[in-house]
Amino acid sequence: MNQSILNKKVSVLIVDGSEVSRTIISRIMKAEMRNTYITTCGTGEEALAHLGLERYDLITTSLMLPDMDGLDLARQARRSETHHYTPIVVVSGDADNRLLREGFEAGVTDYFDKSLGYHSFVEFIKTITRRTAGLVGRILYVEDSKTAAMVTQHIMEKHGLKITHTTSAEQALDLLEESIKQDSAGEHGFDIIVTDFYLQEKMTGGDLLHAIRTRLHFSQQEMPVLIVTVSDNAEKQAEVFHAGANDFITKPIVEEILIARIHSLLLIKQQFNALKRQADEMRLIAATDSLTGVKSKRYLLDNGEKFVSDPVNQPACAFLLDIDLFKSINDSMGHITGDHVLAALGELLNDSFSDDSMIIRFGGEEFAIIMPKTGIETAKIKAEAIRRKVERLCPVNVPLTISIGIASTLDHPSIDLNELLHLADKALYAAKEGGRNRICIHSASCVEHMVLPDTDSGIFDFLNQAGPK
Ligand code: GH3
Ligand code: MG
Ligand code: MG
Ligand code: MG
Repeated sequence: MNQSILNKKVSVLIVDGSEVSRTIISRIMKAEMRNTYITTCGTGEEALAHLGLERYDLITTSLMLPDMDGLDLARQARRSETHHYTPIVVVSGDADNRLLREGFEAGVTDYFDKSLGYHSFVEFIKTITRRTAGLVGRILYVEDSKTAAMVTQHIMEKHGLKITHTTSAEQALDLLEESIKQDSAGEHGFDIIVTDFYLQEKMTGGDLLHAIRTRLHFSQQEMPVLIVTVSDNAEKQAEVFHAGANDFITKPIVEEILIARIHSLLLIKQQFNALKRQADEMRLIAATDSLTGVKSKRYLLDNGEKFVSDPVNQPACAFLLDIDLFKSINDSMGHITGDHVLAALGELLNDSFSDDSMIIRFGGEEFAIIMPKTGIETAKIKAEAIRRKVERLCPVNVPLTISIGIASTLDHPSIDLNELLHLADKALYAAKEGGRNRICIHSASCVEHMVLPDTDSGIFDFLNQAGPK
């Protein structure tokens, strides 16, 4: 899976003269912020040494350190190349006047009132890191001028962004198509695209933008695009938006503006990913029956038709399986026991069929199973095995039997899902009529009773109960 902008590890440097405070803060943060590296130190000197060695996403410091003023530490951090933009939070006893007066000038991003307690402090850090984590992302950068590219790539990398640079729109499009192919999960290799509008080869940045929106079908949320242009002509800029850009920036590039624009586009992408993940989860929940753990009827309605008609699945075979006299189980032992029985049967079915079969809770105590590439003989053996397993299962001490109706696409080419299940239902009806705890098969022109080996001779008895459909 690609490194996502959501699950990047955040590193935080905590500078506090009190060892007790450092210990407590680290402990809470470790428990509550699993995606965080925490470094603590007690003096300004130590902090500066750390800042020289590593890149932090957030720095917090006490206003008064044993060897240094917290604001001086902030000033020095701001002067460094790597931490010029890192948020700095000053922790003090109260909203100190000096902090309000000098803090902004010293480059302090925010301050925290220590009297609110350690837990509030960790919450505060969480909010800030969540906000700033948006600046982590993978950027596809298209720029044909090598010098412009070098400078801009350096700026973006300095801010922790991962850059893939190409000099033509054609190359960029190839990379995008490749990343779509490789990542079926949908989190494509790049979070946003930054492209020059004027490019020397056949395709311009505008053409690339057009291809991203119309050919690759990426929305502005799914693949934000920032256009780099030399023109400050209003008409040209309107054209860029019209073509589906999220934003533009004019050359020469100003670092603060570039980073601010990228930041807001990464937030859009981050929100898109979060929503998409939520929708995927919802789909999974809707596809599963919570009591029995097998697939829901919703899932069958969404996927069954295609499954049954797919040439690679031929011949497909359907079972309709129904618990015998389940009402009397409910009536005599209670509905909750009935639920346990259903759950146990669901588990047994999930364990008994291979992953390429669809196991569906079709109705209350009725299940549909659709198997790909399964001939009638295999289906009969499988059905009998299930019938026997259920007979032996005795979940929560309840004796249990089932009846099964079978239908196959083999006898009825070009049959659809609805018709297939209808035939299986006819067979199931015959099994119930025939005395339950048995299997019936709807073959070409009739319903065939599969006579149980221990009750009869083990051969199949043909009853003309139903004609062909
Ligand atoms: P047959 O052998 O003819 O299938 O008889 P049956 O009693 O199993 O069939 P019937 O359709 O008369 O009753 C099915 C019962 O299943 C009635 C309904 O209350 C019960 N049922 C349906 N869904 C659930 C469920 O989720 N939990 C429980 N405990 N019972 C359910
Ligand atoms: Mg150019
Ligand atoms: Mg029943
Ligand atoms: Mg039923």
